[in-house]
Amino acid sequence: MLKTTIAGSLPKPGWLAETNKLWPAWRAQGADLERAKRDATLLWLKEQEDAGLDIVTDGEQSRQHFVHGFLEFVEGIDFSRKVKMGIRNNRYDAMVPVVTGPLKLKGRVHQTEARILRQHSRKQIKITMPGPMTIVDTLADEHYGDKVKLAMAFAALLNQEARALEKDGVDVIQFDEPAFNVYMEDVKKWGIAALHRAIQGLRCKTCVHICYGYGIKANLDWKETLGSQWRQYEEIFPALAKSKVKQVSLECIHSKVPVDLLALLKGKEVLVGVIDVASDKVETPAEVADTIGRALKFVPKSKLFPCTNCGMAPMDREIAIAKLKALAAGAALARKRYR
Ligand code: ZN
Repeated sequence: MLKTTIAGSLPKPGWLAETNKLWPAWRAQGADLERAKRDATLLWLKEQEDAGLDIVTDGEQSRQHFVHGFLEFVEGIDFSRKVKMGIRNNRYDAMVPVVTGPLKLKGRVHQTEARILRQHSRKQIKITMPGPMTIVDTLADEHYGDKVKLAMAFAALLNQEARALEKDGVDVIQFDEPAFNVYMEDVKKWGIAALHRAIQGLRCKTCVHICYGYGIKANLDWKETLGSQWRQYEEIFPALAKSKVKQVSLECIHSKVPVDLLALLKGKEVLVGVIDVASDKVETPAEVADTIGRALKFVPKSKLFPCTNCGMAPMDREIAIAKLKALAAGAALARKRYR
């Protein structure tokens, strides 16, 4: 009951990459970099286990960014020619690569991380990948000429990697779709269909993470414009409830999402954000348990998974560790409180 997990990313140690950055430069190259990525993955696995989390991840230590970490393994994308593009409906500018030909995977994407987790942990393990809608919102296209066609092409590649991850022993595969909170009409028109393509044939658990973004300034400014109640979830949750995706990961603590919207996810397992990633203030176990208590009015105990609001990549390492502990301690307190 109340099994804990995180949305996905964790800060990179200073010897692996620049710290406190969303697009950090690596500190090493070639074989040294590969070794450093592996070491950082092991380190965060240990930290998650010691904190007492139930479902552990690779902390996304092997990717520079949650979207481009996948794209680097895809043929048909020109990374040498990055263009400036307003992403998430022009919330902020990013330098994005260009699709110039038919898409194809160059090989395995997350095999190394998945195997490290499986070899070194007896816990359930989770690997995250960007969702098709968020991918097409984070690059430029000169080949497909149609957003939906492009999304479906990426969904097929995601599915190819997801099936291989399942064979590696991965228990949960999560797709990150922050774009779902931005293009709500498109979610219903083709976003969920693209996710269905990505999870086709999988028997392991599948999850979609939909948040209001990392705790960076552009996101905080955007949140200020959303008014006193954030109701984006209300438009997409009924469609998600009918979807084949098993779990939905969402933002809850310190956000203006009305908690009763969780009732719209009837039948789904819900990863409720009880740790704020936009604040360095570490939650107390009581605060975490209170948030779980509020969500329990709308999500049954057997389907509620205490989680972080989003990834912790740009955060200080020590704060992230303290937040992992707060998450586990808060869930333990909630288990006692809400028997
Ligand atoms: Zn997120």
